[in-house]
Amino acid sequence: MREEDTVCVGSDGLQYCKACGEAKEAFFPKGDFMGMKKHSRQCACDRKAYEEEQKYFKDKEHRELVSRNTSICFDESRMEEWTFENADMSDAVMHKAKKYVDNWEKMKRNHIGCLFWGPVGTGKSYVAGCIANDLLKREVTVKMTNFNTIIDDIFPLADKTEYINALASYQLLIIDDLGVERNSEYALGIIFSVIDRRIRSGRPLIITTNLPLKEIKSETMLDKRRIYDRILEMCTPMYVGGTSKREAIASMKMEKAKTLLNANRGEEKCE
Ligand SMILES: [Zn+2]
Repeated sequence: MREEDTVCVGSDGLQYCKACGEAKEAFFPKGDFMGMKKHSRQCACDRKAYEEEQKYFKDKEHRELVSRNTSICFDESRMEEWTFENADMSDAVMHKAKKYVDNWEKMKRNHIGCLFWGPVGTGKSYVAGCIANDLLKREVTVKMTNFNTIIDDIFPLADKTEYINALASYQLLIIDDLGVERNSEYALGIIFSVIDRRIRSGRPLIITTNLPLKEIKSETMLDKRRIYDRILEMCTPMYVGGTSKREAIASMKMEKAKTLLNANRGEEKCE
């Protein structure tokens, strides 16, 4: 569009925007400046366009940061789908998990973590994944991993401290499935170092485990005892029970299949 189409000259001699009616020029307050009487100014349309451009770049930067942090957070991309939006929010634990992220600043300040415990297949990892994804969207750095991966990663490293310090530096660390890893003295030593370093960093830690809380609290083996003591110091135990999520999905699918099959039979009858 040519400029003459969008501006007109007012009775004061200044150019005005035809769209918003605001002046696109203004007089210098003290008469003239280096021989010039007027200078250009932004009309409402110019300001709006500028704001939109700023917002576009800010949003783009945010999306890129979240996407980068998300790919660092998870070992498996399917975990990116574990969100509160996709979850059954009538579930009591899900509700508590959402409260945790909504109060994240307080949780962080008070070094509060969670210990999600309960039987296999009840969705403990899923709950932790929902917390991770929600915080990632708020530009929080999160790492969700497990001790088998950590032990494999650390084994060949000359400088193990650097790796352990890196795990302590994420704003939230989630260790999935504690208790399934090897029980060797070496493995337990690494686990203790990671947990201990994390707790000393003062940053929150979330653990999921199939181990019963009673077992965690009454462990007598010294190498494990000192690990569990550290965890209980910082992580609030939360039971994740009820029907196994996998069983529930399977039975839902079965019901759906039954309904569909019966409906089809019904249609056949009508013909
Ligand atoms: Zn305008």
